[in-house]
Amino acid sequence: MQEALDLLAKYGAKAHVLAGGTDIMVKVNRRQLAPEVLVYIGECGLNYIKDLGDKVVIGGATPFAEILRSDVVKQKLPLLAEAVKHIGTPAIRNAGTIGGNLVTASPAADSSVPLLALGASVKLASKSGERVVPLEEFFRGPGETVRKPDELLVEVIVPVPDKDLKFAYHKIGRRKAGTLSVVAGAVVFKAEGAPRGTALARDQACYFEKCTQARVVLNAVAPTPLVAKRASALLEGSALDAELIAKIAKTAAEETSPIDDVRASAWYRRQASEGLVKSLLERIVA
Ligand SMILES: Cc1cc2nc3c(=O)[nH]c(=O)nc-3n(C[C@H](O)[C@H](O)[C@H](O)COP(=O)(O)OP(=O)(O)OC[C@H]3O[C@@H](n4cnc5c(N)ncnc54)[C@H](O)[C@@H]3O)c2cc1C
Repeated sequence: MQEALDLLAKYGAKAHVLAGGTDIMVKVNRRQLAPEVLVYIGECGLNYIKDLGDKVVIGGATPFAEILRSDVVKQKLPLLAEAVKHIGTPAIRNAGTIGGNLVTASPAADSSVPLLALGASVKLASKSGERVVPLEEFFRGPGETVRKPDELLVEVIVPVPDKDLKFAYHKIGRRKAGTLSVVAGAVVFKAEGAPRGTALARDQACYFEKCTQARVVLNAVAPTPLVAKRASALLEGSALDAELIAKIAKTAAEETSPIDDVRASAWYRRQASEGLVKSLLERIVA
C-alpha cells in the first residue's frame, strides 16, 4: 500500500487508481478517460472484512462477492448483505469493489444506500496521513467526492447496529437482475413500544409508539445518494402509524431532485420514490 501512496503522491491528478476496473475501464474503452498512470491496488492488502465488535471494517479493495460470502456481514450487517446481492451480476461482483463503487460517486451507487442508512464512514489515506470522513459528507455530486487525488479509500467503517434495528431495502430497476437502479432505497429505525397486534396498535392503528435512530435513504434520484433528512426527521421520535407512513413517503419524494435519463424520467423516479418508501415502511410493520 505504501508503494501505491508513493505513486499517488508523485503523480497526483495524472494518476488514477485501478481496483476492479468495472467502472474505470468502461471509461477508458469509451475513450472518455486516458489515464497517464494507473495505480493497481487489487493486491496491496486492502481486501479484508474485520469484526471489531461494535464496528465492521471493510478494506477499500474488497470485492462485492467477498462481502456477500462474509458471515460477519451476514450476521452483523444484514442490510448491506441484502443490498450487495442486487449489484450487477456475479462477474461484476467478483471484480467490482466497495471502494470503487463509492469513489465513482454515481448517484446510483448501490452500496451507498445501506452504508448511509447505517451511518458508515470512509478512511482516506495519503502519504501525509489519514482522515475519516462520514459517508454523508463524502459525496459532492455526480462523479465527485471530497477525496483528494493523492488519497486512497482504504477502509469503510460500519457501526454495527443493534440486533433489533428494523430495516427494509428494495431496488427498482428496468430488469429484475443485473440492472442499475432506477431508484433503490432503505429505511432503518429503532422502535419502542407497541408493535402491531397489541391493544394500542388495534385501537389507535399505531404500529410503534416511538421510533428512534431513523434514516430514509434513496439513490439515483439526486446528484448524490440521498439521505432524505426531512423524511428521516418525521420518523425519528414519532409514533408510527398509517398516516405518518404516507407523510414520510410524500416528504421523501419531495426531497428528491431527479433528472430524466435513459433509464427513467424524473417524474417516474419521484413517483417511484414515494411508492418505494411507503412500501418499505409497510413491509417493516407488516
Ligand atoms: C455491467 C455492469 C453492471 C454494473 N452494475 C452495477 C450495479 O448494479 N450497481 C452499482 O452500484 N454499480 C454497478 N456497476 C458499477 C461498478 O461495478 C461499481 O461501481 C464497482 O463497485 C466499481 O468498483 P471497481 O473496483 O471496479 O472500481 P474501478 O473501476 O477500479 O474504479 C472506479 C473509480 O474509483 C477509483 N477507485 C477505485 N478504488 C479506489 C480506492 N480504493 N481509493 C481511491 N480511488 C479508488 C478509480 O480510480 C476510479 O475512478 C456496474 C458496472 C458494470 C460494467
